[in-house]
Amino acid sequence: MPYHHILVAVDLTEECDPVIHRARELAVSNSAKLSLVHIVEPMAMAFGGDVPMDLSQLQQQQFDQAKERLERLILKYPELTKDCSHLTYGQPRQEIHHFAKEQACDLIVVGSHGRHGLALLLGSTANDVLHGAPCDVLAVRLVKS
Ligand code: AMP
Repeated sequence: MPYHHILVAVDLTEECDPVIHRARELAVSNSAKLSLVHIVEPMAMAFGGDVPMDLSQLQQQQFDQAKERLERLILKYPELTKDCSHLTYGQPRQEIHHFAKEQACDLIVVGSHGRHGLALLLGSTANDVLHGAPCDVLAVRLVKS
């Protein structure tokens, strides 16, 4: 059964290129639609929700920076239009699942680092996304160059 709508989740670092490349290949070979999503994690969430200061300005800067990076990224990939590239606030796992369900995606593509030691204990977004995903998940192995 071919995939119809592939969702690629990106962290907007230089490491997202191999993840997008794999998602594009799959979109072409399945004649599927390709959507991209990046989640901006609210700072209060990153700090455990217990920060005694106003983070709204910093948060706006964080969002604007992500928007700029996303716009630069989609310029590199002609098939990724603004209409199919999404930026949203929230917790990555929750928002990626929500988006995949809402848009009837049948495959989520994420990057995955081989983790060791402390990093393994802290867990990964790829692992997080896999649990309770509403569709198939492909973890593209990222190797450090
Ligand atoms: P990490 O667990 O941070 O190493 O991220 C692994 C992969 O999860 C990345 O390559 C992306 O595919 C995805 N990912 C991480 N953070 C985000 C984010 N904020 N928004 C969307 N996808 C993300």
